[in-house]
Amino acid sequence: MTERQYPALVIDHRKLTENVETVCGWCAEQGIFVAGVIKGAGGRVSVAEDFVRGGAKMIASSRMEQLRRCREAGIGVPLLMIRVPMLSEVDELVQTAEYSLNSELKTLRALDAAAERHGVTHNVLLMADLGDLREGFFDPDELVQTAVTTEQTLPHLHLAGIGTNLGCYGSVMATEDKMWDLAEIASRVEASIGRPLEIVSGGATSSLMGVFGKYMPKKVNMLRIGAGILTGPLEDMRTCYGYSEMDALHGDAFTLEAQVIEVKRKASHPIGQLGVDAFGQKQTYVDRGMRNRALVAVGRADYGDIADLLPEMSGVEVVGASGDHTILDVEDAERTPEVGDILRFRIKYSAVLRLSGSENVKVADLPVRED
Ligand SMILES: *Cc1c(COP(=O)(O)O)cnc(C)c1O
Repeated sequence: MTERQYPALVIDHRKLTENVETVCGWCAEQGIFVAGVIKGAGGRVSVAEDFVRGGAKMIASSRMEQLRRCREAGIGVPLLMIRVPMLSEVDELVQTAEYSLNSELKTLRALDAAAERHGVTHNVLLMADLGDLREGFFDPDELVQTAVTTEQTLPHLHLAGIGTNLGCYGSVMATEDKMWDLAEIASRVEASIGRPLEIVSGGATSSLMGVFGKYMPKKVNMLRIGAGILTGPLEDMRTCYGYSEMDALHGDAFTLEAQVIEVKRKASHPIGQLGVDAFGQKQTYVDRGMRNRALVAVGRADYGDIADLLPEMSGVEVVGASGDHTILDVEDAERTPEVGDILRFRIKYSAVLRLSGSENVKVADLPVRED
């Protein structure tokens, strides 16, 4: 066994696979299949494999390189591009992914031409913007018209379905009325093209509230889920949406391990005339007198925001950080750390996203089965 390098992003593939199984199970009970979204984990192939093992029927990402790695690894399920494509990537897209989400006729025409050039049929879902105000047709009539145009004039595309995205820009929740708005648009498209759609994609993790609330219209048969599976109960469905079901998932499929590089007793309030911190921000500091403090060798350049870091050892508090240092108050720690100790943190979604892209952070994979 090789010595682990730090800081380490530890991926427990058994826990991750169990999270996938649990979420796919909830969805399957209501006739919904899951596209596993890997962008939050840097698109690692090992994570995509957990998604497939746990029951995801497609692998999705917003990044072409991540999809390409899955293709090259022979991931075994269709791949879905979930960021509406750039015109400059249509050739690569039709060769890399079977499916994409779309919102522009100009791009659909370019995709059709690219699919013809490469001798493939590319599957598209048209996105409806139900008020969250990121991607998608804001006018349902324009969506229906574009669906008809795609069906009738773009022979190298297959209109596989429609979808929506909520809770990303506008914080709009996947309430029952929004899900029915989507089902209604699907019915209108089906009536206009004279055949059923295979896929109606009801959103991301935030749309699990429709599964928990058991109000998903029958027509909605797919969710694209990343964060909820990767970080489980750390995705705060309870405070935001009032659902506690996520507590059944592991919150520590991804953890951060960092090494202690200094332990000293120091004042808690800075001493001197105060200007700004390492990021040019004016800060306020609470004076709690002299405290035991520890420094660990990982910083905001790696994970972003200290609020996304939850120390596992009780009594340890993250008080601040610069790019490469994190400062912990360990006065009330269960055990005072020593230089060289490794401290573990649970990490919220945006920190998982950043850590998995930081070249300073080493990934350690724990196997699905110990053997
Ligand atoms: C990121 C993304 C998802 C997955 O969102 P999670 O909150 O991670 O489940 C789904 N659909 C689209 C279009 C996305 O950009």
